[in-house]
Amino acid sequence: MKTILVSGGAGFIGSHLCTRLISEGHYVICLDNLFTGTRMNIMHLKGHPNFEFVHHDIELPYHREGLDEIYNLACPASPVHYQFDAIKTIKTSVVGCINMLGLAKRTGAKIMQASTSEIYGDPTVHPQVESYWGNVNPIGIRSCYDEGKRCAETLFMDYHRQNHIRIKIIRIFNTYGPRMLPDDGRVVSNFVVQALQNRNITIYGTGEQTRSFQYIDDLIEGMIRMMDSEDTFIGPVNIGNPHEFTIRELAEKVIAVSGSKSKIVFEPLPHDDPKQRKPDITLAKEKLHWEPTIELDEGLHRMLDYFNDYRI
Ligand code: NAD
Ligand code: UDP
Repeated sequence: MKTILVSGGAGFIGSHLCTRLISEGHYVICLDNLFTGTRMNIMHLKGHPNFEFVHHDIELPYHREGLDEIYNLACPASPVHYQFDAIKTIKTSVVGCINMLGLAKRTGAKIMQASTSEIYGDPTVHPQVESYWGNVNPIGIRSCYDEGKRCAETLFMDYHRQNHIRIKIIRIFNTYGPRMLPDDGRVVSNFVVQALQNRNITIYGTGEQTRSFQYIDDLIEGMIRMMDSEDTFIGPVNIGNPHEFTIRELAEKVIAVSGSKSKIVFEPLPHDDPKQRKPDITLAKEKLHWEPTIELDEGLHRMLDYFNDYRI
């Protein structure tokens, strides 16, 4: 049994990760300030002898001994949420990251950073390979997140080089699934909720921009394999589904799968919205023997079931 700390453990991805780690018999400390995470997400783990929730903001140092592993997930991930308080987002990404790395240094724990495809910005290389340095606007409305996450990768690498900390960096591509908040603001949950309520489906821009959507279970499997991989493999490694869709195709698919009466409407495209995104997952396949198994149709069915039960 390992003692594992998950920062951001009450969020969408974090709650699935905590559940998986508990099911494998580990002791899990879930650290979260409940900004976008909820107690509801971890309700099913409440009272479990191997689960502990700590209400804590990672901008402040956290003291704990005896940790084997740390997953650093704390950070709002939806553009709506990370732009709500941009300065706080940067502090979480940078100061929070230093605090988690300090914790890893003191305890000797192995630490993983939940980095992002946003590292590549509005990419000019397609699909995106890990060796691509990206095309990021440093002064735009997405920069608090993109540059915060880029700085976090730098910090991870420097702690590794200077202090020999065991690190793992994964670059997560658009992930969806149950426990996203109905008002999360990201595209899959927006469209699914709008479809279930027969409300207009809001495409920003022309809908010709692309994304590649990964179901949550595939991501969790990739995260566990990366954490368990040999210490010499530190990443960064892309974890995403390489099946690429336009946003218009996604809207049409959601309407078809749900049988909704919703109509598609077009709204202004936010600034700096990346035009295309698709991971090259050659490295993950080779090093982790991992690739996604759940395609969009199946994932959307599961999302619809979840939000139906949620009584949207
Ligand atoms: P989420 O918003 O559901 O989860 C983030 C969690 O972090 C929430 O529980 C929130 O309360 C917590 N948090 C935020 N700031 C904090 C702070 N200062 N101290 C403590 N807790 C804090 O988002 P998610 O989709 O679950 O994303 C989790 C991580 O994965 C994030 O770091 C995100 O950048 C990364 N990621 C997600 C995606 C995706 O498609 N979901 C893609 C790339 C990267
Ligand atoms: N998007 C959209 N309608 C929505 C929400 C998002 O058309 O209701 C678009 C958004 O402009 C972007 C894509 O969907 O082009 C993915 O947006 P999301 O916020 O999910 O993630 P990110 O832009 O960070 O990849």
